[in-house]
Amino acid sequence: MNITLVAGARPNFIKIAPIIEAIHNKQTEGFLLNYRLVHTGQHYDENLSGAFFEELSIPAPHVNLGVGSGTQAEQTAAIMIGFEKELQENPCDVVLVVGDVTSTMACAIVAKKAHVKVAHVEAGIRSGDLTMPEEINRIVTDSLTDYFFTTSEYANENLRQLGVEVPKIFFVGNVMIDTLRKHECRFKKPPLWDDLKLKNKNYLVMTLHRPSNVDSEQLVKKLIDQIIKLSKGYPIIFPVHPRTQKLLNALHLNFKNLHYVNPLGYLEFNYLVKHALAIITDSGGITEEATVMDIPCITLRNTTERPETCTIGTNVLVGNDPKKIKKAFKTLFSGTWKKGSIPELWDGHAAKRIVNHLTTIV
Ligand code: UDP
Repeated sequence: MNITLVAGARPNFIKIAPIIEAIHNKQTEGFLLNYRLVHTGQHYDENLSGAFFEELSIPAPHVNLGVGSGTQAEQTAAIMIGFEKELQENPCDVVLVVGDVTSTMACAIVAKKAHVKVAHVEAGIRSGDLTMPEEINRIVTDSLTDYFFTTSEYANENLRQLGVEVPKIFFVGNVMIDTLRKHECRFKKPPLWDDLKLKNKNYLVMTLHRPSNVDSEQLVKKLIDQIIKLSKGYPIIFPVHPRTQKLLNALHLNFKNLHYVNPLGYLEFNYLVKHALAIITDSGGITEEATVMDIPCITLRNTTERPETCTIGTNVLVGNDPKKIKKAFKTLFSGTWKKGSIPELWDGHAAKRIVNHLTTIV
């Protein structure tokens, strides 16, 4: 069987790493399973791409489509053109896409039009918020998917409600947590730990990159001002996503306890998360990692496609509502943040289950 794996952006690399390892293990067992790794080039910045290949021992992609930056439509179009050629030159039995980025959707469309089966890892999750490009990517991708690999019973239920036939839904767990479990023992103290004299549970980590938060100068300013006021002077480490950087350059928001840094590598970033007092974020994947590491997580979004991070995890949604943000900080500093537990099947073996299923169904 020939599988083409697609990865284009930071969270994709973290999800694809354990799947490639599981394929290698299957090959060692004697299965005739070949794969081709296609990097679309959606993220090309070394901090958001190359570094992850190195740290997570992901083999070099067989091809990089080199699409680079652009508007949503420009990127979608460039990925589709590049991937169509790639599939014509290197036919396969199944295209496996992960997550919810532009590359996920664009390659699913190309594959389906070429009559190639589509497998979607992290299928079925929905925020219900169509202002998020990721939500549109999820809906389109799942409407074309043949094999749905899911992270939660909630995702299974969404798919059943949409009329997806039950035998096509495979509840396998969470590949992002496979990566976390595998590399937890290698998490690495970043140099800034000593430079800023950080201590365990004595600082906050913040990430912001969703268009809903970072496309408005006024909103970013309001959010950062409020967070600084509530932070009691605790150091806030803020690895800045390139999308957010453009806006911050214009704002000149300087505070003594706010430390802007470049996006960190996976091992250093998660070292910081693991030892933080709390995380403030609008990321999806980070809410899952914080849940598994039992770190309080304040999410600056009104919706989530990962409700289990709130219902059984450590995550709380506050949107950009000043009252909710204030309440979350009050709970945090009173030491009464809810304790999370680990969602079903987030056990480090999701990728193995995916590859086992693929070898029997394709
Ligand atoms: N991450 C990282 N370095 C950073 C910030 C995030 O390695 O400076 C990792 C994080 O641990 C998680 C992933 O990037 O695994 C989340 O990516 P992102 O927030 O870009 O995407 P989302 O999950 O929101 O789609």
